[in-house]
Amino acid sequence: LVLPLSSVFHAVGLVQRGMGAHRRVEQVMRLPVEHTGPAATPVRPAARPRPGTERDGERPALALDDVHFGYEPHRPVLRGVSFAVPPRRQVALVGPSGAGKSTVFALVAGFYEPDSGAVLFDGLPAAELGRDACRRRIAVVDQNTHVVHGTLRENIAYAVPDAPEAELRRVVGLARLEEVVDRLPGGLDAVVGERGSTLSGGERQRVALARALLARPSLLLLDEPTSHLDAINEAALTTVMKDVARECALLVVAHRLSTVRHADHIVVLHRGRTAGQGRHEELLAASPLYRELAASQMLRPGGDRAARRTPSSR
Ligand code: ADP
Ligand code: MG
Repeated sequence: LVLPLSSVFHAVGLVQRGMGAHRRVEQVMRLPVEHTGPAATPVRPAARPRPGTERDGERPALALDDVHFGYEPHRPVLRGVSFAVPPRRQVALVGPSGAGKSTVFALVAGFYEPDSGAVLFDGLPAAELGRDACRRRIAVVDQNTHVVHGTLRENIAYAVPDAPEAELRRVVGLARLEEVVDRLPGGLDAVVGERGSTLSGGERQRVALARALLARPSLLLLDEPTSHLDAINEAALTTVMKDVARECALLVVAHRLSTVRHADHIVVLHRGRTAGQGRHEELLAASPLYRELAASQMLRPGGDRAARRTPSSR
């Protein structure tokens, strides 16, 4: 239920965001905590940084500090989750189905609040930043990508309708959509979606990515497609994620081997607990559960095959 629900909430959020710049400015003015200067001492310390997660004294873009959460009383789903996503780093979340990955996203996106523990953005507890300030920092791209009937331009810019052309071009490039723009008659003004030109699943997700990036979030949450992508789309997604991580922090629910290989840090979730953290090789050596995941269909090798084939197919 979380994914469809979160999509609805996300869509509502997008529409609301597009509706009132005035209102947004007012909201910003009223926000109690949005310091960036030296006065921004976190009210409580940021989550214990894991080795290699905090560079140059930078606060993590996102941290979960011993988060416990259940949808219903006495049925805990998250039972002590701690990890950090440093700025401009790519962190992969992996774990068997039911481990709590989507629940982590729902908490980070602010659809629910932890029963105990804290979600922190740039070292500041979400509870004190307030919902609007948190939502402005993050963008969510889930598996249910919404491409509506309209032009490609409208689909990318509907949360930021007054985005300058240069910004549009930037996210089109970042999301590797140039080929799509070139292919469609009319380019950015080609009508897509229902009754319009069709896009492949991978292309739809990159349209959703471009849309998310246009808002210049400081943290992007991406739920990788579990469905099969063709080789070109596999390779494109890998490249896009690498480039995106240069601009903002990226937390990705990973289903592909190539994603975890490229990730700066991997968090293994098991039955609502962080069961291991590290890089791919470290976890292969240290975590039997991770080895099992890597050997199973949970982490599909498709991305690697695609990445190897790209140079010759271009
Ligand atoms: P994952 O994404 O890792 O597969 P989820 O976060 O979707 O795991 O689910 C973790 C647990 O929480 C599962 O036992 C699931 O049944 C339960 N769960 C997920 N969403 C809800 C919900 N909206 N209400 C009650 N239980 C839920
Ligand atoms: Mg899930």
